[in-house]
Amino acid sequence: MTLAHGRPYLAIPGPSVVPDRVLNAMHIPAPNIYEGALVETVAGLIPDLQAVARTKSNLAIYTCNGHGAWEAAASNMIRSGDKVLVLSTGRFAAGWGEVFARLGAEVETIDFGNRAPIDLARVEAALRADSARAIKAVVTVHVDTATSVRNDIAGLRAVIDAVGHPALLAVDCIASLAVDPFEMDAWGVDVMVAASQKGLMTPPGLGFVFFNAKAAAAKSDTASWYWDWSPRANPSAFYEYFGGTAPTHHLLGLRAALDMIAEEGGVEVVWARHAKLARAAWAAFEAWGRGGPLKINIEDPAYRSHAVTALRIGGDDGTRLRRWVEQKAGVTLGIGLGMAEPDDPAWHGYFRLGHMGHLNAHMMLGALGVIEAGLVALDIPHGDGALAAAAKVVAEA
Ligand SMILES: *Cc1c(COP(=O)(O)O)cnc(C)c1O
Repeated sequence: MTLAHGRPYLAIPGPSVVPDRVLNAMHIPAPNIYEGALVETVAGLIPDLQAVARTKSNLAIYTCNGHGAWEAAASNMIRSGDKVLVLSTGRFAAGWGEVFARLGAEVETIDFGNRAPIDLARVEAALRADSARAIKAVVTVHVDTATSVRNDIAGLRAVIDAVGHPALLAVDCIASLAVDPFEMDAWGVDVMVAASQKGLMTPPGLGFVFFNAKAAAAKSDTASWYWDWSPRANPSAFYEYFGGTAPTHHLLGLRAALDMIAEEGGVEVVWARHAKLARAAWAAFEAWGRGGPLKINIEDPAYRSHAVTALRIGGDDGTRLRRWVEQKAGVTLGIGLGMAEPDDPAWHGYFRLGHMGHLNAHMMLGALGVIEAGLVALDIPHGDGALAAAAKVVAEA
């Protein structure tokens, strides 16, 4: 028997659940792109996005997904032959590094593996070794969505400053924006990329590149027409915001999502909700892990993202559990990403729980409840008290 009939819950780490309010805001006839409500809406989106990113820097908006935002940033930051230092803590910084490489950059990668944050001492050594100051940019992720690690970006800036290295600091916040605390200006981030479909609760299709005055001054003279961030950040006509027709309905959806963030009390309140719900999930995972194979991928809670948790369970239990929870209970968990190759049997021993965006306590406790049911149904050994532990976190003031 399946108990999946009812509202399904997509608990993968992006795209995240789209609120009905966002969907309803998008359900309108095509608006005029030359004057009127849509044009006025865009002017208001920019300060609200800057507030969420904690920055006064420039913002270029693209009709694209996160990979497009990667390419947009990269093509403005480097010209062929420039060197970049990529700090890899899973899958996504390396992916961004490939984009830089395809644009002709010389990419040096430090790989910190799949279970650990950036080791700042190794970064410091690499920057000190660059006595010619050839490295044009240090490129990394705030949160790696595959491993669920959260890197110390303020600490990274402090290391770059301690060395006195002039490189730009470029950070991918696609998974973490409006989820994990992030301070673009206070932390000295020069370029930041984000996208609409994770913490911002809007369907995939909008990419964002924030860039400060230092990055603007260092802009490559080889950026292609479409990716050039300058006209988008300082348009002389409305169409220049988007290099053509505006992504009309996405912008209206995003407007509703930003209104929801403001009405909740602003991004700090949203961060606090995510922190608490993540801690509820970790309490449950840790309790199950005390009596079985389930382990949170990132051991130190200080380096765990509040947007997603990657789990190791071994055997083929990751896939079995995902299938059971989806088919019997209507909750879709994320696949393990980047922990093993898809043709390796070990691939089936991982899964992820996405907990970003439009998520409240009953959704989290519901997801945890059906995971427990799946562990029981599939005879996967697990410790007791997980749901009580999660409920206790939710109950604390
Ligand atoms: C989702 C994600 C991306 C890729 O975004 P797409 O929209 O799938 O292109 C890049 N980086 C991080 C950290 C992500 O979470």
